[in-house]
Amino acid sequence: MSGNTRVVLKKDKTVPLPHGSELMMLPQRKPIVYNIVKDTFETMEQNPFNLKEKLFPVAVFNSPGYVNRHFCAYDDAGIKDFLPLFAYGAVGFGKNNFRSAALLVDTEPRQDLRQMPHEGIVSGVNQMQQKYPDNRLIRHLETCALHYGCPAGKNFFLKRYEAPLPTSMVCNANCLGCISLQTDNNLCACQDRIRFTPTPEEIAQISLEHISNVKNAVVSFGQGCEGEPLTAFKVIEPAIRRIRDRTDQGTINLNTNASLPHQVDVLCRAGLDAMRVSLNSVRETFYQAYFRPRSYQFSDVLNSIQAAKNQGKFVSINYLNCPGFTDSHKEVAALKHFIETFKINMIQWRNLNFDPQKYCAIMSKVEDSGSPIGMGAVIRQLSDDFPELIHGYFNPYLG
Ligand code: SF4
Repeated sequence: MSGNTRVVLKKDKTVPLPHGSELMMLPQRKPIVYNIVKDTFETMEQNPFNLKEKLFPVAVFNSPGYVNRHFCAYDDAGIKDFLPLFAYGAVGFGKNNFRSAALLVDTEPRQDLRQMPHEGIVSGVNQMQQKYPDNRLIRHLETCALHYGCPAGKNFFLKRYEAPLPTSMVCNANCLGCISLQTDNNLCACQDRIRFTPTPEEIAQISLEHISNVKNAVVSFGQGCEGEPLTAFKVIEPAIRRIRDRTDQGTINLNTNASLPHQVDVLCRAGLDAMRVSLNSVRETFYQAYFRPRSYQFSDVLNSIQAAKNQGKFVSINYLNCPGFTDSHKEVAALKHFIETFKINMIQWRNLNFDPQKYCAIMSKVEDSGSPIGMGAVIRQLSDDFPELIHGYFNPYLG
């Protein structure tokens, strides 16, 4: 499915199930299938080979770098609760493998679990405990790596690619699909928010440790285990200055909701290299319906992007993708206008971790965005219209 549009899954629109992806059954929901003989879509509740047996839809949580073309076809009529915070990609099986309806946009093995051995993580944790016994932020990342299974936390202890720098206990938005705080529905957050504000020295210690030991290192503020990093501006700004006082290596990146343009301007002057802005839509009313900002306007987000671009920084959007909405005619038209206006450098395609049927229903309540053109078509058109624009998944090292 893409929004309310049901699509027959064809082999040429699928790829073999990406390594590290997870198959999930959808409780209480009913599978929608295509009856080849009758050329109709049907909701199927019973197993036709054993009518006493109930059937459930199966979805795939694709591994990083794969964009969902469609989400799983399911019927959730009469169900109020939301599905847990995952992305529910469409999946089927071919002659000898499961196949995902997904597109590969980033081949970097940054979060390839086969290259992240547990023993290596544990020995990295032990080393850091020896070297930085009093750094509370490293202790926090130990929980991230060993208990939450966070790939960014693991990469710090494995001295690979990108290190996470969580700093903020609070947020000035209230996203429907927030993975660190859920209050008003049946959902639970995936991990708890950090419970202290690290010092600039604790942040700088981790960053310099990573930058001095990792080729093409990236260090990033704004992680899943915190609120909005701009609310911790008072420690981030001096931390960036300490890092840049001691090295010009590595890329310092900020994953953010970009709600505070003045703070963004100051961080860029302090030495920030890149900013990734989370957006479910580039249209204000749809943005508000998902992010539910508490104390800022959509115009603040746009002003932050302009402030970073004015200082020649690398700006990408963390584009939360849901087939049926993201590839709708009106969203695509607005996205092209947005890229034209702000000349962003990159789109990081992120499958939205939220109940897709419920999400599309909430978005269509705002306004009808028109029918889907297909995620493949969207990326093709953007590549044609904006050849400089990078499509990917991970925060790049800027060298
Ligand atoms: S901006 Fe991030 S931390 Fe804040 S509510 Fe949204 S997902 Fe949660």
